[in-house]
Amino acid sequence: MLVFERKADLTVYLLQQRKAGNTIGLVPTMGALHRGHLSLIETSVREADITVCSIFVNPIQFTNKKDLEKYPRTPEKDQKLLEDAGCHVLFCPSVEEMYPNPPYTQFSFGALEEVMEGYYRPGHFRGVGLIVSKLFNIVQPDLAFFGQKDLQQCRIIEHMAADLLFNLKVVVIPTVREEDGLAMSSRNVRLEPEARKEATALYKALCLGRDMLLKGEEPSVVGREVEAFVRTFPGLQLEYFSIADGGTLQPVKVVSDHKQLALCIAGYAGDVRLIDNLLTEV
Ligand code: AMP
Repeated sequence: MLVFERKADLTVYLLQQRKAGNTIGLVPTMGALHRGHLSLIETSVREADITVCSIFVNPIQFTNKKDLEKYPRTPEKDQKLLEDAGCHVLFCPSVEEMYPNPPYTQFSFGALEEVMEGYYRPGHFRGVGLIVSKLFNIVQPDLAFFGQKDLQQCRIIEHMAADLLFNLKVVVIPTVREEDGLAMSSRNVRLEPEARKEATALYKALCLGRDMLLKGEEPSVVGREVEAFVRTFPGLQLEYFSIADGGTLQPVKVVSDHKQLALCIAGYAGDVRLIDNLLTEV
């Protein structure tokens, strides 16, 4: 696996690859890699000729300074995992490399960022949009892989890519879970044992909500039931539970008006903030 820290070196290499007729897959990450990330890498390795994984902890998308400081970093382990997964290129730039100047440009994603993560972490998606568009410009991938785990991020990137005419396909990969259902996340390593046990209730809450909706219950009733279920876990603090349209992510009032529903949840297990979601056809 080739490792690049500078965008200019990566650009030269990718130009040669493109001239040779190879397609390029990009997997943007913030490192501390786990099996969820590796599922994106493995799909890219299957679907594109050259897979580029970027590892960059993007400071401007953190709305909480402590969260940025505490964000896990495991560079040696990441490199080994990527090599074993058949990744061709690791791009791990410095903050100065990605932000040579303080940025003036600001993204705004309208209604898509007024709900859920965008509401509770104002400015978060502005940071995500900027870093992902920089990576798209540097790598110019044919395919870009994102995890359904961050569903709102997926929808925002899909629209950003279409709006800015990026010549690439955004591919969304299903969430990889631990055996007890907890969605894999780099933040899971920070869970204390008791919080780790209770954290699986977020997934259980989503399943409960989905099953009730499929039985024909009203979204408002389901919402109250799911919230009550999460309250039975003393170590969990629910931030939101939303039954939303799978495409627009806006809250749903009447289930039959929608083709696909997204059940989305966010909460704290101890002091670790976790998110999860399920998509379901209705
Ligand atoms: P992150 O390093 O957390 O920014 O994640 C990098 C990419 O991996 C994003 O597209 C995430 O949605 C995706 N990802 C994170 N966790 C999982 C998971 N458990 N299953 C599938 N994809 C994931």
